[in-house]
Amino acid sequence: MEQRIERIKKQLHSQSYKLTPQREATVRVLLENEDDHLSAEDVYMLVKEKYPEIGLATVYRTLELLTELKIVDKINFGDGVSRYDLRQEGANHFHHHLVCIECGAVDEIQEDLLDDVEKVVESRWNFQIKDHRLTFHGICYRCQ
Ligand SMILES: [Zn+2]
Ligand SMILES: [Zn+2]
Ligand SMILES: [Zn+2]
Repeated sequence: MEQRIERIKKQLHSQSYKLTPQREATVRVLLENEDDHLSAEDVYMLVKEKYPEIGLATVYRTLELLTELKIVDKINFGDGVSRYDLRQEGANHFHHHLVCIECGAVDEIQEDLLDDVEKVVESRWNFQIKDHRLTFHGICYRCQ
């Protein structure tokens, strides 16, 4: 955890941003809840437990900054709520999601599996792909 915070700090510094205590508290909440897909409100409620004086706008700006620096990815599962998801370190693409239509659980696939699809799209549409989002909607193994 501390090492990851150190690395995130360096990433911020390299773009001339500081890891202020409020930003650090936000990053810690994301790390502590890495398996979850928290909305800005969720993050805010958790940060507030340690920093009661922090405002939603500050948390929101930090999340936007982390998104810009590609430390987190912003994702929407179709319910109109933006969620923030830590990027795997060293990942050159955003992981995929399995969203259960019964219980709402969100599981992750770190493996990419889409190299062939990307090649087809790049050549047929002459489109330079930088990344992609992939969400499967279905019934998870727990609900089957
Ligand atoms: Zn995820
Ligand atoms: Zn389920
Ligand atoms: Zn992928």
